[in-house]
Amino acid sequence: MAVAITFGTSGRIAGLLEPEILNRFLDLDQGGKIAAEYVWIGGTGSDLRSKTKTLTKPVKNVKDLPVWNYDGSSCGQAPGEDSEVYLVARNIFRDPFRGGDNILVMSDAYKPPQVGEPKDTPLTPIPTNTRAACMEVMEKVKEEEPWFGIEQEYTLLNSTSKWPLGWPSNGFPGPQGPYYCSAGSGAAIGRDIVEAHLKCCYYAGVNLSGVNAEVMPAQWEFQVGPCEGTDAGDHLWMARYILTRLAELYNIDVTFDPKPIPGDWNGAGGHCNFSSKSTRAAGTGWDAIQEQIKKLEKRHAIHIASYGEGNERRLTGKHETSSMHDFSWGVANRGASVRVGRSVPVDKCGYYEDRRPSSNLDPYVVTKLICETTLLSK
Ligand code: ADP
Ligand code: MN
Ligand code: MN
Ligand code: MN
Ligand code: MN
Repeated sequence: MAVAITFGTSGRIAGLLEPEILNRFLDLDQGGKIAAEYVWIGGTGSDLRSKTKTLTKPVKNVKDLPVWNYDGSSCGQAPGEDSEVYLVARNIFRDPFRGGDNILVMSDAYKPPQVGEPKDTPLTPIPTNTRAACMEVMEKVKEEEPWFGIEQEYTLLNSTSKWPLGWPSNGFPGPQGPYYCSAGSGAAIGRDIVEAHLKCCYYAGVNLSGVNAEVMPAQWEFQVGPCEGTDAGDHLWMARYILTRLAELYNIDVTFDPKPIPGDWNGAGGHCNFSSKSTRAAGTGWDAIQEQIKKLEKRHAIHIASYGEGNERRLTGKHETSSMHDFSWGVANRGASVRVGRSVPVDKCGYYEDRRPSSNLDPYVVTKLICETTLLSK
């Protein structure tokens, strides 16, 4: 009998797919086969898709992974009559769901080669492949060794009601105040999934720098970094993929919406911390930071336009945000577009935080733009 599944119901279908049954098979020897889960970004620019390729031996170097393909017409990424999209493997992680030598592979998508083209013609990225343009810029600025640390805020939702996890079903919890970095059953809601995510990221090799409970109940944050160049985007997207897979097991939804609940509830950000060789240089770094911030100010509108859909609902100037319309910066100022840490003017070097990106940022777009503005523009 077919079971109809509507989006948002449990991937496990409580009572039907009991986890204990799968557990009987997870430790079986794989007969020498390795599963490589190729992960890519779908047509909305935020949906993550993946499929499994069987390999005949363990692979450690991404260059040893074959180019693969998928049906782009089913992801909103290609017309039905020419539906093939090529997948290029970019970054390997260990697979915390399958364990062993199995891997997760962050990939990006290209148009297939055209008939009659010489064999070594470079592939053309499809329009939603933001990684390709990011990689080009990172190549240009690699001498400056750009490092990024991205803070990913997200909100856990009841998958049936779409209301935040643990909130009263027809109302609101007590006002914000006790929840940020909290402990306790009514305060730190959904910690199991945060803990599972942390362990899975460590195992996978995602460069996770920390996690914390956020200001709005059922909202959490993880940070990735510091990561150099395209690694920042690869690690953030893979951390999101792992979180989404865990949420599926727990039958809850994760939203990266910048303002999931309107009103007096904090929105969700994607702060991007940045440093380059010159900002990290002892003695001269503080001057370099001030030069870079001046350049960011000039291109404020360009950045805001690429810092996440719906960010205008979040960047109101309230709830620890700056106004979307003006650029501002300050030492230790959490109401500014850009915040410089207390220690930077003291140490005369370090990194700074672009607080403008929202939780649904595309890290390939944001890291590329920060490098273009601070390291390539006049
Ligand atoms: P906040 O105080 O804004 O909550 P977090 O501790 O959440 O800051 O995040 C700080 C981020 O900055 C982390 O992702 C960390 O990896 C990153 N970071 C630390 N040092 C550097 C550096 N030199 N360059 C870029 N990013 C850095
Ligand atoms: Mn943080
Ligand atoms: Mn935060
Ligand atoms: Mn916040
Ligand atoms: Mn921050």
